[in-house]
Amino acid sequence: MPSFQTVRGMRDLLAEEAEVLNFVMSKARETAKLYGYREVITPVVEPYELLSAKAGEEIRSRMFTFKDLGNRTVALRPEFTASIARLATGALKNEPKPLRTLAVGSVYRYDEPQRGRYREFYQSDYEIVGVSNPEADAEIILLTDRLMRAVGLRNYAFKVGHIGVIRGILSQENVDEKTQNAILQLMDKREFEKAFQLVKSVACLSTLRGLLTLKSDNAFDTVGRLRKHVEGYPNASASVEDLQKILKIVTEHQCPIATVEPTFSRGLEYYTGMIFEVYIPELDIALGGGGRYDRLIEAFGGEPTPATGVAHGLDRIVMAMRMQKTTPTTQNKKRVAVIPAKEEVKGEALRISQMLREAGVSVELEVMGRKMNKALEDADRRRIDFAVIVGERELEQGSVVLRDLAKREQAVVTISNLAKRINPEY
Ligand code: AMP
Repeated sequence: MPSFQTVRGMRDLLAEEAEVLNFVMSKARETAKLYGYREVITPVVEPYELLSAKAGEEIRSRMFTFKDLGNRTVALRPEFTASIARLATGALKNEPKPLRTLAVGSVYRYDEPQRGRYREFYQSDYEIVGVSNPEADAEIILLTDRLMRAVGLRNYAFKVGHIGVIRGILSQENVDEKTQNAILQLMDKREFEKAFQLVKSVACLSTLRGLLTLKSDNAFDTVGRLRKHVEGYPNASASVEDLQKILKIVTEHQCPIATVEPTFSRGLEYYTGMIFEVYIPELDIALGGGGRYDRLIEAFGGEPTPATGVAHGLDRIVMAMRMQKTTPTTQNKKRVAVIPAKEEVKGEALRISQMLREAGVSVELEVMGRKMNKALEDADRRRIDFAVIVGERELEQGSVVLRDLAKREQAVVTISNLAKRINPEY
């Protein structure tokens, strides 16, 4: 037999990495609770039609698509928004608005594997459905800001844009939606010249080209110049006002805005309004991104329903935490090894282990029947904090020996006091 390896682009996350990822997930869930987003769990496999309908060519062409044994064309989800939109037109259709959801889990894209880019990766996805007000977009940015802080990241900043500006200009110049999507896809890849080649109207072309010169690191300065630049395009102008309102709210709450980019576009086709991404200076790939998609739910057969949301790339957040050396504080609990001194007290050692576990202590019971010295050496090597040595003599007094492995000190402790001695908070 050959020795098996993971499929290209897919990773095993060993204990330490899994612990950090779980820490980030727990912060994502905590953030959701603070903002009133309730978690839903949706399938990894969805109908191909659902996932491909509005994802955009970039993602559609990278989906893991296959036929199941019932001859249905299905795919592994490349993101969560389509599944949430499905819920919003189905099971959650009659829920009071706004509907706020969280989804956490793995997603799949046949991307070219490289640093921070995998074929299976993890996201936390927040969606707020049923509101078109800028307050909802601001909330999505603010909760992202909160998550970044909660995992201990520093110096992160947001890049913000508004798809409504470009769509507003193009629609007014009668550029059909398909061409608009192609132009936005090219802009996402920063292939501006190719994008402009798809535009026929000369007047609109110079307006689009001009957008490239407006980017600056002063958000309100860019918005002011953008407002002047798109005068004469009412829908684009309305988008600029919307963007201004969102920026006003988030900056009042100290959300760090790095740049406002009028030509900023994102790979997913369904965006209609504000879009954003979040970065740290040490990494040139986004830690998360999102935006407004007011027509997706309607496209899935629901009532016209505005919505906005964000997906955070949890693997990249973990990577950013490593780069900024922000170690999570998950392992503050003491670890304990319980070691029976003799075969005869094995049952008692298990009983004590169970008692400690009830008190919340993390216990690794010596189950290999090793001699005391070997078992202690092993506990030491695995950086266990305490060894509880269960011996016949101490048991007769209702006690055990508690050994602090770091300090190399030990004392006889009554079993009923054991948990408190290990951690006074128990
Ligand atoms: P998107 O769903 O494209 O808006 O992506 C949201 C976030 O998911 C991005 O900002 C990245 O942090 C993360 N992400 C996207 N593609 C990958 C990938 N192939 N590997 C790891 N993370 C990714």
